[in-house]
Amino acid sequence: MSLDVTRIPPAPSQGRPRGDAGERAFAPGAGPERDLLDACVHCGFCLPTCPTYVLWGEEMDSPRGRILLMDLADKGEIGLDATAVRHWDSCLGCMACVTSCPSGVRYDLLIEATRAQVEERFAREPAERRVRDAAFTVLPHHRRMTAVTAPLIAYRASGLQRALRRSRLYGRLPERLRRVEALAPIVTWAGVREEAPALARPAGEPVLRVAMLTGCVQRAVFGDVNAATARVLAAHGCEVRAPRAQACCGALELHAGRAPSARERARRLIADLDGPDVDRIVVNSAGCGSTLKEYGHLLADDPAWAERAAAFAAKVRDLHEVLAELEPPAGALRPLPLRLAYHDACHLAHAQGVRAEPRAVLARIPGLELVEIPDAAICCGSAGVYNLLQPEPAAELGRMKAGNVRRVAPDALAAANPGCLIQISASLGGDGDPVPTFHPVELVDASLRGEDAAGLLARRAALLRSAGAAR
Ligand code: SF4
Ligand code: SF4
Repeated sequence: MSLDVTRIPPAPSQGRPRGDAGERAFAPGAGPERDLLDACVHCGFCLPTCPTYVLWGEEMDSPRGRILLMDLADKGEIGLDATAVRHWDSCLGCMACVTSCPSGVRYDLLIEATRAQVEERFAREPAERRVRDAAFTVLPHHRRMTAVTAPLIAYRASGLQRALRRSRLYGRLPERLRRVEALAPIVTWAGVREEAPALARPAGEPVLRVAMLTGCVQRAVFGDVNAATARVLAAHGCEVRAPRAQACCGALELHAGRAPSARERARRLIADLDGPDVDRIVVNSAGCGSTLKEYGHLLADDPAWAERAAAFAAKVRDLHEVLAELEPPAGALRPLPLRLAYHDACHLAHAQGVRAEPRAVLARIPGLELVEIPDAAICCGSAGVYNLLQPEPAAELGRMKAGNVRRVAPDALAAANPGCLIQISASLGGDGDPVPTFHPVELVDASLRGEDAAGLLARRAALLRSAGAAR
């Protein structure tokens, strides 16, 4: 991978420090922990895996540079100025640096604590604040998400999306609006209407009793993936509960520095999902799963919840971890001959270390050939709400990912995160030569149901073409 330093990083984040944050960035006793900062030995091994460093070749947009800024801010040598905030804002939170760091630096905890201080002590300019507030007014609420998704489907299905993209007006729309429009999720009415049943039972005695997170974006946009998840888990011998009333996990807010509301959502979700007869909490969305596994840390300072949160977190498993532990009934998986590129979602591979399990689960499907994507460790640009808040670098990373996917000429691509599926589908385009995208569990489900691979690919390709995803 070569660096292309001709690309221009975004301008400094606009805004001003609140209170005394101009002199001292972090409130006393708050901000990243000193021993975590000191763990960085400035070796630079993380730099080539950092997507923003790959894009811009700028030290302060690398993990090492961002940690240095945190260090200076913590020592009171710099205040919370717009330039420092810009470098932290442009981090995707992809955690590729956590994987590549030989010294075990917990960059995930460092950026989380830093962003919480930025949210508290930096007044963003009104337009930026409105975009952020709008995103968090809708995204963590699956009913509001559904209310937004339905008009998007109508916009696409009516041909309005295609007409707009081909009109002169499209070129005159603000860049940010065009980038966001391009992400209009590629979903069907079935995807919106379907959902996991509240209770799914296996054919025989359950081998595991699991509670399933249905999510907010996942439930609103990929309800069919949730339904497939419940079917596949039941086929592997699990009793699956998916309570209708369950809170958002708080992942999007936590990654954006909105820690107090993320903590409140964590408490509610623990109460919604956990119980003495639940063996595992199963999550099919990588970003949510990594946050649920961190609940013990998130609520460590809350005496009423710390113990319960740690016990809950210990039960959390990504869907593929559970499936890899179990066996489908002999002969149940039927051939699905296709060449599949598996995309490692950052919050699965880097944040949870789950790489082998999805591949092992997919490799069980007769006839399915797995292929690896070049530069797989580099984020696709989705990263929670990053593609809404930083649409230009997100689109650039999306183009890079799409180029790497096309280099291995797959019949289809699988990714275990709704954000990645939306981002990669939009980046790959669809008009001429679509690459159908799936959650891995949809392919396991299709194999268990004996679906025809050619028909499955053709239906998804037709959806992509109708979405006019090519720009
Ligand atoms: S974060 Fe890790 S890999 Fe990166 S400079 Fe610091 S010690 Fe080296
Ligand atoms: S989380 Fe990702 S974007 Fe942020 S510093 Fe680490 S590698 Fe770079």
